[in-house]
Amino acid sequence: MKKYIKLMGNNGSGKTYTVRKILEQLTGKSPDFMENIYVDNMLCYHKCTCGKYGAMGKFREGLKCCGMDKISGKSKDGESFAYLDRLQRNVDKIRPDVLFDEGLINITLKTLEGISKFTDFYLFYLDYPIELCRKSIIELRQGKVSEGLLERRKKSHDNIYTKINVKKYGLNGKTVVDNMKTIIEITGITPCRCMATKSVNPQQVLIEETWRDV
Ligand SMILES: [Zn+2]
Repeated sequence: MKKYIKLMGNNGSGKTYTVRKILEQLTGKSPDFMENIYVDNMLCYHKCTCGKYGAMGKFREGLKCCGMDKISGKSKDGESFAYLDRLQRNVDKIRPDVLFDEGLINITLKTLEGISKFTDFYLFYLDYPIELCRKSIIELRQGKVSEGLLERRKKSHDNIYTKINVKKYGLNGKTVVDNMKTIIEITGITPCRCMATKSVNPQQVLIEETWRDV
């Protein structure tokens, strides 16, 4: 893994949607249709056929919450997730050169600064007003927001973003496309071979490259 691109932001700020759009733009395929690969019994990711791009967590068409939000914070025997440790321990097994991560589970100063020690780390903060996030959850996703949740989350994210010592960029474009362009420009990522080699049988490639240790 060379680049690790983290999107943070409140519920309803569009983290997952932005990662989906970027992957579609650069690989020609939504992560909803990429295979889910486990590197240990809690850590998993999706990758494109050529292996250049990936995203942490689980995606599937129709899932309301995707990505890292689909990964539980505890294992079956009660072991806590400890994302940083798991990622570091398994980093050589994770194939993509560029890995996106948009989950809320692992947003702490220690975790994010820790990841930046062994990756080329970029932090993007989708920094939108609370009311806009609430509107997006309720109107676009027909979801519910518990009292005070977005306020607490914004405070905590603002705090982390102010203190964190990594390459960091606030994002508040008018559209997802604006934000996508900014991320692509800053990180210098380019379309992968999947865009040009549509004749490759994706299933065949995936079978060779897919493995689990659970
Ligand atoms: Zn690819």
